[in-house]
Amino acid sequence: MVTPRPHAGSGALFERARAVTPGGVNSPVRAFNAVGGTPRFIRSAQGAWLTDVDGNDYVDLICSWGPMLLGHAHPEVLAEVNAAVARGTSYGTPTEPEVELAEEIVRRTPVDRVRFVSSGTEATMSAIRLARGFTGRDVIVKFAGNYHGHVDALLAQAGSGLATFAVPGTPGVPTSATDLTLVLPYNDRAAVTAAFAEHGQRIAALIVEATPGNMGIVPPEPGFNAFLTETCRSAGALFISDEVMTGFRATAQGGWGLDGAVEGWTPDLMTFGKVMGGGFPAAAFGGRADVMSHLSPEGNVYQAGTLSGNPIATTAGLATLRRAGDEVYAHLTAAGNAIKAGITDAFTAAGLPHRIQSAGTMFSVFLRDGEVRNFADASAQDEKAYAALFHAMLDAGVYLPPSAYECWFVSAAHDDRAVQTVLDALPGAARAAAAAGENA
Ligand SMILES: *Cc1c(COP(=O)(O)O)cnc(C)c1O
Repeated sequence: MVTPRPHAGSGALFERARAVTPGGVNSPVRAFNAVGGTPRFIRSAQGAWLTDVDGNDYVDLICSWGPMLLGHAHPEVLAEVNAAVARGTSYGTPTEPEVELAEEIVRRTPVDRVRFVSSGTEATMSAIRLARGFTGRDVIVKFAGNYHGHVDALLAQAGSGLATFAVPGTPGVPTSATDLTLVLPYNDRAAVTAAFAEHGQRIAALIVEATPGNMGIVPPEPGFNAFLTETCRSAGALFISDEVMTGFRATAQGGWGLDGAVEGWTPDLMTFGKVMGGGFPAAAFGGRADVMSHLSPEGNVYQAGTLSGNPIATTAGLATLRRAGDEVYAHLTAAGNAIKAGITDAFTAAGLPHRIQSAGTMFSVFLRDGEVRNFADASAQDEKAYAALFHAMLDAGVYLPPSAYECWFVSAAHDDRAVQTVLDALPGAARAAAAAGENA
C-alpha cells in the first residue's frame, strides 16, 4: 500500500476556495467529484511534472487538458512570451504574431482563413453562427458524447428517438436554444442518413469532434468523417470539424491528419484551441475562404473579441507550434506506447477489465472490455474502479484526469524518468482498482 501524501495545504485552500467559488473550482472537471477527495492545488510545473502547494511532485498526465504539448515552462517558449510581455500585453490593434500564427495554422490544416477568439467555446459558437449566416438555415446536427464547449445550443441531450430535436442538457438553457439541435448516436451512419432525409433542407451544419476525445477516445469508424462530409455537401449544409482537442495534438495536422489528409476531403469549417494557445487563452475557427468572407468586417455575420488574437497568447501558440515538429510527435507516440504497454501488463495481471483506444498520439483507457464505438458504450464503465485507480496513482505521484471519460495526455517533456514513474505506479494501482471495482 502506498501512503497517502500529505495535502493539508491543498485542503486549506480548497476550504477557502469553496467559500468564494462554486464547488471551489473554476471548471467542473478540476474538482474531484467523480473520484472523491480534495483536488490538489498546484503551485508550479516544470516539464512533465506538477508540484502542489504541499511540495508533492506528480507526473502530469493532464497537461492542462491538452495544451502543454511541449511540457510545462518550456524555456524557449517562456523566453518568447516574456519578451512579448515586456512589449506590452494588449493593444486592441492588429499585430504581427496574429498573422504568423494564422499562417502557421493555414500551413498545417486545410483552412484558407482563420479568425482568432479566446476559448474553444467561442470558436464553436462562432463557427455555428457563421454556418447559419452563410446557409440561411437554422438546424444544427451534433453527436452524443461529443463536447464542443458550453455553447447553449450544443449543451443538448438526445430527444426521444432518432431525428427528433434535442432537450437542454443543463438547467439554464432554454428549450428554444436546443430545439434547433439534433443529437445523433456517434458512428451511426443510418441515424445521419435518416436525420438528413427528414430535415436536410433546414440543416445549416453538422459539428463533430475530428476524433471524439471528450468521452474518452472514440475514433471514427473508417470513412465515417468522409461520409459526413459527403452527406453535408449533398444537403447544402456545412461540415464543421471540431479540432479544439485534437488540433496539433493527434498529429502535426491534428485529427484531419489521420483521415482527411489521406482520403482527400476537407471540412468546410474547423475549430481549434488548447495546443494552439500554448497554455494561454487562444482559440480559432477557420475554413473555406468563401464561407469565412461572410464574417464581419468583410461580410455581415457579426463576431468580435476585445482580447482575440492578443499578442501574448498568439506568441505562446506560435512558439509552441514552431517547435512541434516530427520529433515531438514521434516522442509523444513513444511515451504513449510505453505507458499503454504498462497499462496492458498491469491491468491484465490484476484482472482489471480495460480497453485502450487511440487517435494518433492521443489515447484513453476505458475500464470495461470490448470496443467503444459511441457514448452508450463509453458510459458502461466501472467508475468505482476508476476512482480507486485515480487515488492510488495520485498517491504514487501520478496525476491522472479525475474522471474516467478523459484522455491521458503526455508531452514532449515526458522523458524516461517520468514514464518510469508511471510504469512503477501502475501495478499497485491496478490491484487497488480491481479490489474496489464491480468485479471485486
Ligand atoms: C475543450 C474543448 C472545447 C471547449 O474549449 P474551451 O477552451 O474549454 O472553451 C470545445 N471542443 C472540444 C472538442 C474540446 O475538447
